[in-house]
Amino acid sequence: MGASLLYHLALEGCTDTLLIEKNELTSGSTWHAAGQCPSITGSYNLAKIHAYSNQLYPKLEALTGQYVSWHPCGGLRLATNERELAWLKYILGFSKSIGFRMEIVGLETIKRLNPYLTTDNVIAGAWTTDDGHGDPSGLCNALAKGARDLGATVMRHNRVLDIKRRGAGEWEVITEQGTVVTEMVVNAAGCYAREVAAMVGGDAPITNMQHHYVVTHPIQAFIDRNEEIPVMRDSYTSGYFRQEQKSGLIGVYESTGMREAWEPHGFPDWEASNELFPDDLDRIAPWLERAIERMPIFGEVGIRRVINGAIPHTPDGAPLLGPAADLPNFWMCCGTSFGIAQGGGCGKYLAQWMLHGDAEINMAEFDPRRFGKFADRAYVRDKVFFDYRTTFTTRLPGEEEMAGRPQKKSPLYERLRAQGCVHTETFGWERPKWFSPEGCAENYSYRRNNVFDSVRAEVSAVAQRVGILDLTGFAKYDISGAGAEDYLNRICANRIPRKMGGIALVHTLSPQGRIFGELTVTRLGHDRFYALSAAAAELRDWDLFTRAVRPGESVQIDNVTERRGVLVISGPRSRDLLATLTDADLGNDAFRWLSGREIHVAGIPLRALRVSYVGELGWELHPETGSLPALYDAIWEAGQDFGVANYGLYAVNSMRIEKGYKAWSSELTNELDMLQADMARFIDFKKADFIGKAATQARARRPLKIVYAEVDASDTDVRGGEPVLALERCIGVTTSGAYGHRVHKSLAFACVPPEFAVPGTRFDVLLQGERRPAIVLAAPAYDPDNLRMKA
Ligand SMILES: Cc1cc2nc3c(=O)[nH]c(=O)nc-3n(C[C@H](O)[C@H](O)[C@H](O)COP(=O)(O)OP(=O)(O)OC[C@H]3O[C@@H](n4cnc5c(N)ncnc54)[C@H](O)[C@@H]3O)c2cc1C
Repeated sequence: MGASLLYHLALEGCTDTLLIEKNELTSGSTWHAAGQCPSITGSYNLAKIHAYSNQLYPKLEALTGQYVSWHPCGGLRLATNERELAWLKYILGFSKSIGFRMEIVGLETIKRLNPYLTTDNVIAGAWTTDDGHGDPSGLCNALAKGARDLGATVMRHNRVLDIKRRGAGEWEVITEQGTVVTEMVVNAAGCYAREVAAMVGGDAPITNMQHHYVVTHPIQAFIDRNEEIPVMRDSYTSGYFRQEQKSGLIGVYESTGMREAWEPHGFPDWEASNELFPDDLDRIAPWLERAIERMPIFGEVGIRRVINGAIPHTPDGAPLLGPAADLPNFWMCCGTSFGIAQGGGCGKYLAQWMLHGDAEINMAEFDPRRFGKFADRAYVRDKVFFDYRTTFTTRLPGEEEMAGRPQKKSPLYERLRAQGCVHTETFGWERPKWFSPEGCAENYSYRRNNVFDSVRAEVSAVAQRVGILDLTGFAKYDISGAGAEDYLNRICANRIPRKMGGIALVHTLSPQGRIFGELTVTRLGHDRFYALSAAAAELRDWDLFTRAVRPGESVQIDNVTERRGVLVISGPRSRDLLATLTDADLGNDAFRWLSGREIHVAGIPLRALRVSYVGELGWELHPETGSLPALYDAIWEAGQDFGVANYGLYAVNSMRIEKGYKAWSSELTNELDMLQADMARFIDFKKADFIGKAATQARARRPLKIVYAEVDASDTDVRGGEPVLALERCIGVTTSGAYGHRVHKSLAFACVPPEFAVPGTRFDVLLQGERRPAIVLAAPAYDPDNLRMKA
């Protein structure tokens, strides 16, 4: 990871860099890796990272002169049931829009590619031909050599002992061989990343896991055959197997008896290098036996070598790539459990972010600030154990796993659970996803499932009566001071409301004009503002807010996320219901749409904001967190006369897409500027200046645009990551989608070239391997004039 970053920084022209390694390069986790680089991974953006590595590695030897032993044998992932096949069909879509080669193949082709495989319980496979495996040490040294040749410096046998921040903002990196003063530090310390982060008072939520692979003695069948079999991946064996020269190699992700590395403290002594753990073949025996069932030729010979080494894992299995929270110019480049496959791409996109302020791919899901204090050691360990044992298990959309949960609960958590609430987790917060009337579980699927009717009922309650939703996890900030208005106008593209009580939807941009965040800002007083953003953006926004304050500027920023709860009341009866609990005038003249006031409801003081993400008349109520239960109970009781119903985020997603509202991190990402995201109406170019203004105005080319489309779907809706096709050409990708229950339409957002953005344009979306026609819409599918919200 460090070597790749150094190389890609150098390729971008930045060679005033120093990679410090305490021992030899690769002596951490890299040297003992099996070196496989799959194309297939469950995340669209991570698949881009893998794809880039697989483009780079085959040519790295020619680029650097360093032997990397690249084996372009491809990969073959087996599907043993319909659930796995559905997942592979979804990933097949990634291959088309990202551009790696992948085919779903039947048993005949599988047998041709690997004639030694027994295909019992196999129903299909996914064959990828741009990947393979390489020698991890060779790859790492080639990246380091390439960087050195371009002018970067690598210093080995020099341990970093401590890191300190100087008053002027630089970092002092104290090493065995002296102190280095630098503008930026990157933590690429692999299994030691948590300890290196601790040097600066930060954290890297990583648990290091033990992982085995074994190498057999040479196998006659491999000796007799010239061709190499693809790298095989299989849920039945919970692992991978392949040829290692003329031997077999089998790696296992055991689903019982997993072990943390270096228990009980979880990280090695500083002196450790090239460390392996004692073999525990008994632990992995059940899966080795299955691998032999799959490949009987493996059973003909004995085991020659066992590797049991450490892999760093994060709670969600994705790398930590980006700025560390609350530590200016301290970056993370660690936490990869597939660091060989991901190393190339991680280095490239992190280098872009560090040098240009943004990467060309959506980095939100890798941003280290997606974890906060909630990710304590026990949480991380629980999640990582789950992630490790399910490495080769197919997870279906929406699948909830309870490891490490619940971590952050609203005071309504138990109340809602008692009413059938199924929660989902965002930034540690438990948030209502849907309400199960009979306590039944969701049958996870890529197709519409048993939850469809429940969500429709929730939507219909909101559209016809009144719904109540606990969104306490929202990130919330009080921003105040004589300079607050100017400050907010400087960091946001839209105009901050001038009127008392005014509310505006505003966006923060990077200096390059790319979208950074989305906020709802309410003016509570002359110099008092209340800003709300996505739960997952809490630490990112905190960093942006605090770093943007100029010296001497009179601005105070207070993160009040945990101090205020949020209840959303939506629907045509919401005014009538709330009127029974408040003296405040909720009529249109006194309390207009897009305004906020401090009022009492059921005797509880709170901030009431008349906004709606679901397109109905409604208010968000923000009381102090401790008052939430009393407020909920009062509204619930009074609401019985109005047909009040709970609703969750599945229903919200259905309704927001009917309103054509784009979501932060799906449509509104660092890949696009506001004009590409079709958000021009949220920019006030008349303002003297705001961060990103000049870059937005100066951009000459906008090769992609977000469009809103209706999809002629059958029983499966867009989720994001599906390719958009025009004739035989892949022209773009969907960013999110859902079924709109009020309009009875399947709807989606997609990112396409501008010539396909004209309303009425037709293209196809590949849904579960099937081309479905779509048409670009000119206006939101539901209530385009906002009459219901203004009612
Ligand atoms: C058995 C096994 C098989 C694997 N197979 C694969 C595979 O097939 N494909 C795949 O993609 N991944 C595989 N992995 C995972 C892979 O090994 C890791 O994800 C990857 O090596 C992580 O790379 P890294 O650069 O983050 O960490 P490392 O390679 O550990 O590099 C971090 C470096 O930082 C140095 N360091 C730490 N602290 C300090 C300090 N204070 N001062 C100076 N230097 C310091 C360390 O010495 C180390 O060299 C496997 C892992 C195991 C255990």
